[in-house]
Amino acid sequence: MRAFSIPMRTRFRGLSRRDGALVQGPAGWGEFSPFAEYGPAEAARWLAAAREAAFESWPPPLRKWIPVNVTVAALEPDRARQVVLASGGCRTAKVKVAERGQTDAEDVARVEAVRDALGPSGRVRIDANGGWDVDRAVRMIRLLDRFDLEYVEQPCASVEELARVRRRVSVPVAADESIRRAADPLRIRDARAADIAVLKVQPLGGVAGALRVAQAIGLPVVVSSAVETSIGLAAGLALAAALPELPHACGLATLSLLDGDVVADPLVVVDGRIEVRRPVVDERALARFETDPGPWRRRAEAAARAGQPPGGDR
Ligand SMILES: [Mg+2]
Repeated sequence: MRAFSIPMRTRFRGLSRRDGALVQGPAGWGEFSPFAEYGPAEAARWLAAAREAAFESWPPPLRKWIPVNVTVAALEPDRARQVVLASGGCRTAKVKVAERGQTDAEDVARVEAVRDALGPSGRVRIDANGGWDVDRAVRMIRLLDRFDLEYVEQPCASVEELARVRRRVSVPVAADESIRRAADPLRIRDARAADIAVLKVQPLGGVAGALRVAQAIGLPVVVSSAVETSIGLAAGLALAAALPELPHACGLATLSLLDGDVVADPLVVVDGRIEVRRPVVDERALARFETDPGPWRRRAEAAARAGQPPGGDR
């Protein structure tokens, strides 16, 4: 096991560095990078994803390139426009809204700037990260839909609230934070709480497990990253490549948030897409960011002892 700590160019989840571990097995490299606040039971699923990557095979790819979205943080309109124009040709933008301490008018100005930068043929989705209550979500979604929204991601925190918002707006609703383990999609489906499911490989215990979740939920899937290195992103690409249908751009263009990578040929955006391939760890690239693997080995051992959570994730 090798460990890394890479500075972040843009703060995410309050983090200024992205830390994690890398494991190599006969099948290739896997990434184990649960966030610091996750305990052993939660980290067990992230470990299962790393083991799958290192020791098992991923499902066969059905496509060679994955369209991806650029993510626009809660920025001023001018900077939001610049992010879109520097995205490597992305035709879909995800705009963060409902940021704590900001006004509704700031959200409107940001979404307007992004629509303007993309032009009428681009797609604009918004992500509230659960920051609205039902009434505010309904009001803001209706207001922002004058910029023609592809969908709204996690407008409110709970599944019940998502269902209530969904009944009152015509913009499709996507569930992200509401899906963190294999049992969650069934709740989403039964509550009719979403039109789209945002799935991430590591929290769902691997590519095969996430694919089973996609089948169980029966909704269009948007694959997103957990802000990983190219080693972890490759698993997200494998999931996106294996889905029977992929109607929306995926949230895998997150490498630009990191100030470096552990491979020599990173999974970068080309004409709004990322190629489906699997880079390997490069010693010179890793050397810039390598840290003591001891704490990560202990974390992996604790996760392995915690085993699989109830619910039959894997
Ligand atoms: Mg989200």
